[in-house]
Amino acid sequence: MTEKQLKKQMLKEMEDKEIFNQVKDYAFEYADTVRERNVFPLQQALENLKYFEEDIPNHNTPATELLKLLHKYGSPTTIAQIGGRYFGLVNGGIIPAGLAAKWLNDFWDQNTPLFATSPIASALETVVEKWLRQLFNLPASTVAGFVSGTSMGILCGLAAARYRILKRQNWDINQRGLINAPVIRIISGRQAHATVLKAIALLGLGIENIEWVDVDDQGRIIANKIPGLDQNTILLLQAGNVNSGSFDSFDETCGMAQKKNAWVHIDGAFGLWAACSGKLNHLTRGIEKANSWSVDGHKTLNTPYDCGIVLCNDKEALVSALQATGSYIVYGENRDGMLYTPEMSRRARAVELWATIKYLGREGIDHLVYGLHLRAKQFEKELSLNGFRVLNEVVFNQVLIACDDENETKKTLKEIQEQRICWCGGSQWLGTQVIRISVCSWVTSEEDVSRSVKSFLSARKKARESLMV
Ligand SMILES: *Cc1c(COP(=O)(O)O)cnc(C)c1O
Repeated sequence: MTEKQLKKQMLKEMEDKEIFNQVKDYAFEYADTVRERNVFPLQQALENLKYFEEDIPNHNTPATELLKLLHKYGSPTTIAQIGGRYFGLVNGGIIPAGLAAKWLNDFWDQNTPLFATSPIASALETVVEKWLRQLFNLPASTVAGFVSGTSMGILCGLAAARYRILKRQNWDINQRGLINAPVIRIISGRQAHATVLKAIALLGLGIENIEWVDVDDQGRIIANKIPGLDQNTILLLQAGNVNSGSFDSFDETCGMAQKKNAWVHIDGAFGLWAACSGKLNHLTRGIEKANSWSVDGHKTLNTPYDCGIVLCNDKEALVSALQATGSYIVYGENRDGMLYTPEMSRRARAVELWATIKYLGREGIDHLVYGLHLRAKQFEKELSLNGFRVLNEVVFNQVLIACDDENETKKTLKEIQEQRICWCGGSQWLGTQVIRISVCSWVTSEEDVSRSVKSFLSARKKARESLMV
């Protein structure tokens, strides 16, 4: 195909919309069947992934053909994540209004470093920033950066902390770097999320330098074991332990930090949203006393993926930390999104965040968050009635399950995964193997929970039979 022919074809594709109607049909078929299909791909489907293995094609492939391939071999090898019975990691579902907004956003294809590159993205980032402040009850000085996920959110929050702590000592980290810089202390509970450690490593602060603090049996930092704080210290706290779902006692710990002018970052990837539920917001009491927070839209809020947020009450520190030079801080009249993120080019992820929050409103977010908790409590109740052990206090959306012994737990989990009626991962909790349930999708119904519990029961039966022989 010549360049002219290729261009002509692409123009035609934009004009006649055929390929978009084609994927619309695929997407709708997917949506119509996903609730009833196996949650994890079948072995045969996985083997079909070999159809994607080829060397780089020399010539153009018709769009209809490659889309057909994607649907034929790709759709069956997705995780049925939007189906209501996927309980792995902390993977949120997707709210239709947010998904629809994403489709429109895809056609817009905006790049969002500056107001000038996308006025709509700038406007929506501005309004969503305000909404997040209001939802989480954070200080008026709090600004937001829209990043890919909480991993990046933590990195940005800690970069701001590093900037501020050193700046107070007349040390400009951007110019002078960390070599020979004054020491920054880092204090964390022993159950910090792996991405917190990654951020510390990336920022050159060194995982070995962390002053670890013991946690209680739910993974919460023990406040009176926190060593003396000072203004050169970063204290890392957690809203939502990735296993137990527990929350540190922010009122107490942030209060201590505030008195000593230490910087507090709260990793609230999925848990920060508890602040939006009238019945659960006791868990987040005191978060407003921290300095920076990281949270995901794509977990508890059920936005599409690629929707992380860093919040920081020290705009100057955040913006300065994320710039190449200190002098390049121009507070224009309109928001330039790149000032608040490490990236320059970014897609307009605030569009879906805006649509999802606008759709739900305060009340809808409360229902969503509390609904996840209720389904988790249902798991706790039905599984313990059936002789499973629940190893955590189910304060939010996480449930940790064990059978009579390690072997039985392992075999049961494997069998659950093989049945594909629901999907849970395994984890270690207080030194033992557990089955880890994370309720994270608005779709999950009481019936989904009961169906999943049935799978647990038949899986354990099989596990016991296989252990007897
Ligand atoms: C998921 C998670 C992260 C990482 O967030 P990403 O969006 O995957 O980058 C960090 N901390 C906790 C507690 C999490 O659950």
